[in-house]
Amino acid sequence: GTTIADTLEQTVDRYPDREAVVYPRRDQRWTYREFDERVNRLANALADLGVEKGDRVSTMLHNGSEMVLTVYACAKLGAVFNPLNYRLPAGEVEFIVNDAGAEVVVFEDATREAVEGARPDLETVSEYLWVPAPGDEGNDPDTPEYAHEFYGLLEAGSSARPAVTVAEDDAYAFIYTSGTTGRPKGVVHEHRDMVEHSLLCIAEMNVRAEDVGLSILPLYHCAELHANLFPRVHRGATNVIQHEFDPVATLSAVEEHDVSLMFAAPTAWNAIARTAAETDHDVSSLRLGLYGAAPMPERVLDLCMEHLCEDYVQAYGMTEIGPCGTFQSPDEQRSKQGSAGTAALNHSIRVVEPDAAPDATVEQGEVGEILISGPCTMREYWNRPEATAESLREQGGRTWYYTGDLGYQDEDGYLFVVDRKDDMIISGGENVYPSEVEDVLFAHDEVVEAAVVGEPDDQWGERVVAYIVGEADAETLDAYMLETDRLADFKRPRAYYFVEELPKNPSGKVQKFRLRSDEVDPEG
Ligand code: AMP
Repeated sequence: GTTIADTLEQTVDRYPDREAVVYPRRDQRWTYREFDERVNRLANALADLGVEKGDRVSTMLHNGSEMVLTVYACAKLGAVFNPLNYRLPAGEVEFIVNDAGAEVVVFEDATREAVEGARPDLETVSEYLWVPAPGDEGNDPDTPEYAHEFYGLLEAGSSARPAVTVAEDDAYAFIYTSGTTGRPKGVVHEHRDMVEHSLLCIAEMNVRAEDVGLSILPLYHCAELHANLFPRVHRGATNVIQHEFDPVATLSAVEEHDVSLMFAAPTAWNAIARTAAETDHDVSSLRLGLYGAAPMPERVLDLCMEHLCEDYVQAYGMTEIGPCGTFQSPDEQRSKQGSAGTAALNHSIRVVEPDAAPDATVEQGEVGEILISGPCTMREYWNRPEATAESLREQGGRTWYYTGDLGYQDEDGYLFVVDRKDDMIISGGENVYPSEVEDVLFAHDEVVEAAVVGEPDDQWGERVVAYIVGEADAETLDAYMLETDRLADFKRPRAYYFVEELPKNPSGKVQKFRLRSDEVDPEG
């Protein structure tokens, strides 16, 4: 079977001199041959430190070539890649690294404090790797005494391919999901999941060796890593790595590197398109945009089509299934506006009564819980047999993943994602799906961003309230919502809170649990 390391090595054979990785922050540009040689060096250096097949390697890194080198070095060794969100505080780092039982932690300036805070309690970690700031490679006086300097270590490794046999069903990564409740859980993906997933993405986006992709969202999240970086490496395309998301830097990178493909969450697309409208970057190289992670408001899609490029592919899914489970193709953006498309190749979708058996399907058009079955689904949650059994259920020879998302299928089988089961508001016994209310709010010119949540209410159980970023005021919005015929009155927000920004995770998803917990100051 094919492993992730094989997908890289096949590309090296096929396109040795094509550009593989471009990391402007360090002025790095490597062809596939050069990149692969560095991957081998890092893999051998890790092996020299004692990393063996099956050992876990955690990273606390922003986007950069080091992240890309580390994931492929782990793949060559059969070591398990464990990318952490670089914003996590010490306590969460401690939890995840201990839960994963990692041997090695790779970190940088920005994450040093969190790693140092966790370090006394990281019992399985025997080695630390420090990624220095650009310009400091090799002789950084600040290198912590307990850590190896990343580039010095890499130089010392042999460039020969490591002699390790990795099987397609070996674990490739533990990726911890943010989750809105409880502790993060480690999603265990095997090599073959990712090879299959990469092929799906290559097919849906028609990724070609001539493509230049830009990574703007964090590579620790599976959407950027699995749906963008992996397919591009597999196919021999170029990967430009942006250290951290910023709309102006994104547009400059598109212009400078002739970027043809990029992925972002709708909130990030919104920022990029609005910035493009106000600046005069040449973005004519862009041929396709991928979006997902959250619903795309129609107005944002319009802005993107007007100011960036015409063609978009949407993916819907989650860490546990790869992440892509459905795709909506460019020609469906208008004809099936608002839908998440249809099942990805080799996948099946079902909509069932929430939490019921996989064959308890609802009537066509009715809202229920979305189940997905496909070849890229996780093996399990690491050390969580109960959570695994709850999320993965066998039926009719297939394994179904319970997404926790609500949705329905239209008469043509197109999936419409309505909301998270946990975000649904019940007001006076009526179900309100926040995304439906947000769509209407978004259609107002003076609304830049909107997030709708339920607030405890003595009379109705919950009442609908909206957090708004934009110029509008409450009277205008209320009048507008009263006028529209798109929404039943019980769904109309009973209060508007104006804020500077909405709390988001680094992949751009609005964190509604933070709005509900009153963490955000409505006077903003
Ligand atoms: P994560 O595991 O962090 O990728 O989060 C997965 C969740 O993001 C899903 O369960 C959905 O609630 C949401 N999501 C992902 N893609 C889409 C999409 N295209 N449209 C609407 N919601 C999405």
